[in-house]
Amino acid sequence: MIPIQRLPATKRLIRLCDSRTEKIRELGATGKAARDEWRLAEPAKNEIRTLLEKMAPGVLRCMYCLDSVGTDIDHFEPLARTPLRAFCWHNHLLACSRCNSNYKRDEYPCDENTGNCLLIDPSSDDPDDHLELLVAIGEYEGKTRKGEESIRVFGLNREDLVQGRFDAYITSCDVLNSWHRKVRRGDLTGAALSAAALRREPFGDVLRALEKLGHLPYAATALGGELADSLQAWLRTPAAANPSNAAPLLNTKSHDPRAPA
Ligand SMILES: [Zn+2]
Repeated sequence: MIPIQRLPATKRLIRLCDSRTEKIRELGATGKAARDEWRLAEPAKNEIRTLLEKMAPGVLRCMYCLDSVGTDIDHFEPLARTPLRAFCWHNHLLACSRCNSNYKRDEYPCDENTGNCLLIDPSSDDPDDHLELLVAIGEYEGKTRKGEESIRVFGLNREDLVQGRFDAYITSCDVLNSWHRKVRRGDLTGAALSAAALRREPFGDVLRALEKLGHLPYAATALGGELADSLQAWLRTPAAANPSNAAPLLNTKSHDPRAPA
């Protein structure tokens, strides 16, 4: 997962959502009323979807797995739990049908003592505070209970995602080196195209983890010469992310991270 910047709701969206929320309230604020109103609210849903797609990572990727196309509007806090938040803009995220319907569904674990939600909302939490991506093997580890619950509920370590992240790691290393070679020989158009393609790739968490790794003092040792040089050059570009909490990200228990460098 990566942070998602939420755009402000449009006046039209606020108007459409307020009238639907009022209707749910009049109908007794039940889960059924929320589901019925949601089913009928095509104009509001189109407006929500348009805004979410502008916020989506990569090319319309799911905000949870960052892999599949985000086809569904997910209610982060489920309709059944809080019907009056059905049309709350801050409760909507773009998800793929698999994350939404096969994994998260109506789960919303909360801390027994504080009542605080134990799922990462990428539009209000920084996933880096709760998750560590072991980039060279594609697996997540929880840094907090919220991180561990998010891995479980969103299925972040399901086999296809782990494999996809590992493949994205190999591809990203290759593209970073290719981008750097183009920069060095003055092919700035080619370099710009490679950079744009890399930022559009699925699994944006892999590039973000590599960028974090590049900030570490032992990056050259861990990554190998060429990739470390490419990453240092990449981090000097204005568009590169500048993650704050640099931390150990490589885990070499099954793969040698230097192999693709
Ligand atoms: Zn997904």
